[in-house]
Amino acid sequence: MRVVAIDGPAGAGKSTIAQLLADRLGVPYLDTGAMYRAVTFAALRDGVDTRNEGEVAALAQKTRIELSPGRVVVDGADVTAEIRTQRINAAVSHVAALSGVRSILRNAQRLWVESRGGGVVEGRDIGTVVFPDATLKVFLTARPEVRARRRVAESGGDVDEIARAIAERDRLDSTRSDSPLATAADSIQFDTSDLTIDQVVDDLHRMVIEKERINGRG
Ligand code: C5P
Repeated sequence: MRVVAIDGPAGAGKSTIAQLLADRLGVPYLDTGAMYRAVTFAALRDGVDTRNEGEVAALAQKTRIELSPGRVVVDGADVTAEIRTQRINAAVSHVAALSGVRSILRNAQRLWVESRGGGVVEGRDIGTVVFPDATLKVFLTARPEVRARRRVAESGGDVDEIARAIAERDRLDSTRSDSPLATAADSIQFDTSDLTIDQVVDDLHRMVIEKERINGRG
């Protein structure tokens, strides 16, 4: 099964790169962050306390999340735009720190990819925990100011405020006890600060092909 794991902090370019790489490789693309955002949306919708692990996990279990290219549907409602708002940004890392939620979403992610025969999977713990045997593991980064500027270019806002919000989310994601944001020992570290999107996608595409050639040799 061809699986490419793309992890890294917020604003490193993961979504853009992962989608383009998936198209190039002819495999589906899975945005696992959208799943954590969807559960966070459901918790806020239902007034569930996001610190209550049992209740949020029960909600994660019963929430219907449908992901298709460029579209996220939760329990039949299109929440594509809603899950990218500051309200969700501020709450998602707290929900994602709950082990009860992570184990449910982890299973769903593995099933999603296995039933489709592979994919480019983007998140925080894909190479370390979800798909430790991925064909290629990439850890995408970019300098903090570059990441903040990219977010502002995408969705507006004040650059200093966005930089602070990103730093706080990264801090929470890197310090939680269950599957924190971390580089896998065998991941390729890639700083996208001074590269174009095409350069990154070209390089990663080449690496996947090379890795498969080496694996196929044995
Ligand atoms: O990638 P994105 O910024 O949409 O992810 C939103 C949040 O979901 C992250 O800040 C993190 O808290 C959580 N997440 C995670 N594990 C993943 C993907 C996302 O904990 N594999």
